[in-house]
Amino acid sequence: MNVTEIFETMEYGPAPEAATPGLSWIKEHSPFGLFINNQWVKPASGQYIDSINPATGKPLAKVAAANSADVDSAVAAARAAFETWGKTPGHVRARYMYAAARHIQKHSRLLAVLESLDNGKPIRETRDIDIPLVARHFYYHAGWAQLMESELPNYQPVGVVGQIIPWNFPLLMLAWKIAPALAMGNTIVLKPARYTPLTALKFAEIIQEIGLPPGVLNILTGEASQVGEALVRHPDINKIAFTGSTDVGRSIRRATAGSGKKLSLELGGKSPFIVFDDADLDSVVEGIVDAIWFNQGQVCCAGSRLLVQENIANRLIEKIRVRMEHLRIGDPLDKAVDIGAIVSPGQLKEIQRLVNKGVEEGAVMWQPSWACPTEGYFFPPTLFTNVSPATTIAQVEIFGPVLVSMTFRTPTEAVELANNTRYGLAASVWSENINLALDVAPKLKAGSVWINCTNLFDASSGFGGYRESGFGREGGKEGLYEYVRPKWEMLETLSEDIHIAKDPMSANGSGPMSSPDEEAEDAMQDQSLGSSNGYVAALPAIDRTPKMFFGGKQVRPDSGYSRDVYDPPGRMIGQVGQGNRKDIRNAVEAAHAASGWAVGTTHNRAQILYYIAENLSVRENEFTHRIVQQTGRSHEDSVTEVEASISRLFSYAAWADKFEGVVHRPPMRGAVLAMPEAIGVIGIACPEEYPLLGFISLIAPAIAMGNTLVVIPSQQSPLSATDFYQILETSDLPGGVVNIVTGDRDMLSQILAEHDDVDAIWYLGSAEGSKNVELASAGNMKRTLVNYGYPRNWLDTVQGEGEEFLRESTQVKNIWIPYGE
Ligand code: NAD
Ligand code: MN
Repeated sequence: MNVTEIFETMEYGPAPEAATPGLSWIKEHSPFGLFINNQWVKPASGQYIDSINPATGKPLAKVAAANSADVDSAVAAARAAFETWGKTPGHVRARYMYAAARHIQKHSRLLAVLESLDNGKPIRETRDIDIPLVARHFYYHAGWAQLMESELPNYQPVGVVGQIIPWNFPLLMLAWKIAPALAMGNTIVLKPARYTPLTALKFAEIIQEIGLPPGVLNILTGEASQVGEALVRHPDINKIAFTGSTDVGRSIRRATAGSGKKLSLELGGKSPFIVFDDADLDSVVEGIVDAIWFNQGQVCCAGSRLLVQENIANRLIEKIRVRMEHLRIGDPLDKAVDIGAIVSPGQLKEIQRLVNKGVEEGAVMWQPSWACPTEGYFFPPTLFTNVSPATTIAQVEIFGPVLVSMTFRTPTEAVELANNTRYGLAASVWSENINLALDVAPKLKAGSVWINCTNLFDASSGFGGYRESGFGREGGKEGLYEYVRPKWEMLETLSEDIHIAKDPMSANGSGPMSSPDEEAEDAMQDQSLGSSNGYVAALPAIDRTPKMFFGGKQVRPDSGYSRDVYDPPGRMIGQVGQGNRKDIRNAVEAAHAASGWAVGTTHNRAQILYYIAENLSVRENEFTHRIVQQTGRSHEDSVTEVEASISRLFSYAAWADKFEGVVHRPPMRGAVLAMPEAIGVIGIACPEEYPLLGFISLIAPAIAMGNTLVVIPSQQSPLSATDFYQILETSDLPGGVVNIVTGDRDMLSQILAEHDDVDAIWYLGSAEGSKNVELASAGNMKRTLVNYGYPRNWLDTVQGEGEEFLRESTQVKNIWIPYGE
């Protein structure tokens, strides 16, 4: 036997991690209670469910099945605890979180074993990836607890948060949810996934050990239909944080619409793994193993779509097959196993169904020659070639160890293919040409882009999706904003029944500033001002009917109808177009055509905003009179509004080249560029009050950050916005960046909210309108900013201007760039 033969026949011996410590811990505790107020309590239903070991299919433990009565007690406990925890100094919170991190490390082996037993994932992964990341998450966020008072001085905790997590990274997802929430002073009710409750229950024990005040963290195991839905609908919860499938995420968006609950959603993905012909193919093969066979492919950001440059496709596919033949599947507790068990029989069936579908659709399926264990739920690594981009397996998230591959010829084609998905969670780019890789990264619609690496995570670098992969980030400073609200937003106001809040629009057609009588007088005065030279007054006014404004052109409404605009005493002062669905469609198209705005320089955007401000200041009188005329407010008040608008334009011109992102230094050789990118096309429904300032306060940050817009001006006072297009026309703003559609604000916002080519919608109007917008936004999971009927003081620079709007105008992309040979 020569050396080569010895190598080929050498088999791994078994290298099992002992299950005993995990099993005896389970035995001591099973049946597990619910964790409320730091106590183990029996479920109201008296019922328990089994958690199974997917590697054997046998029950491991009995855990409590909570119902809505338990949700009520847990929320009450969290609410009571919030009274103190919300006011506990950051340093004290930091001490608890630091202690949690220490205890996670102390119990790391037990946690790793429990995770592998309950979920079926290889011990190598739980031991070397999941648990260390969990500890790191608590350390990192202990730091933010410490720094909250100095770094987020204008923010307060949200309150009681409901958190719902999936089964694929049970303890890691718990950490991603709990750590930022605690750091920012919130209290929590968390629901682990049905199949994987055990590490969360061990974590509850850690909470007892460190003496976290009772009620700050409550953990409820049970069924989604009992616990999950009750949490989502509970009136005393201020925020829902969810990780799971896009379908459930969409139903949660709908269920919480109009409730005022803050919402963050981390959903599914179908992430591209792009290989250019100059990539180091051996590294690529190992990258693919980590992209799609890590955690049996049950990873939301799995690189499940392999896109290979055509000229190297055959060579790469052959190498992948060779590597697949050597992957080892089996007992998750065996340290030499690469692939463990699929979490549940249901998930296994679903994977098989989609694989069958791929074969039916004509793709070529390949699996290694070896067989899977017959006990437990195993599925072999699978590779599809000859896949066409529109088929089910190329579009639908399989959430299993199944890779589908396609080819491209040019970088442009690679980007198109990569973005040909409704998702946008992650992407991986492989090339030895750094110029190419860095050119492609910003063009990919994804929250994380890994260059020559994949599936890297760190607490410092935010994670989260574009498009239907959800909104909100976990990790990084950006993730903290999911768990705070501005201090000026008083919690008391928000927990009132928001439907009794008045829509400023329905307030008898008047602005919020003065009584109808005063308005009438001011308007009279203004008219005499406007016609004071007698000569003008003697001639009939030239009828200047404002049009709509799309693609830089003045356009007549599709309907051919106009609506009258009245001043407060009821005199007609103009007519604007009555916008309809077709107008919105055209405006959205124009906004898309102007997408080049996002890739221009920030210096250029700043210059144009200054120019707009300059042109407004030249016409200050005219805009002042228009405000007086439309609102009946005093001349002085209206001057203030115009000047505030000019100042606001200056602020966002200033921010245009300063809201820049950061470079993270996670524990690796390399850097992560966290870049705020434009969201895309934003639909904006302006507030009724402040016809000019409301409009400027919303469009200026959005265009400063590179978005293109469809704007619906104040319905009652639209003329300041329609006058404004003349300023836009003379300020070098490219056509299509700002598009204006006048008409029925709520009807038009509804159309915008339903439009699948709109990426975000901002609506500042009634409570009812806010709810409808949130409901309709669920179609393509738009990001929303609504006011639930509460007015803002637009003159105030904290409420009306600044970071909040810049954050709403951007989404952070984290680009991972490891270096070194
Ligand atoms: P799922 O959406 O069915 O369940 C996720 C969690 O939500 C579970 O705790 C479940 O009990 C609960 N849930 C289910 N229906 C609910 C409802 N109507 N109301 C409230 N809660 C409800 O997903 P899953 O099958 O457990 O997990 C797999 C999915 O999760 C995949 O689609 C994957 O892409 C996604 N995922 C995303 C991320 C991410 O960070 N984006 C991470 C992990 C998993
Ligand atoms: Mn289990």
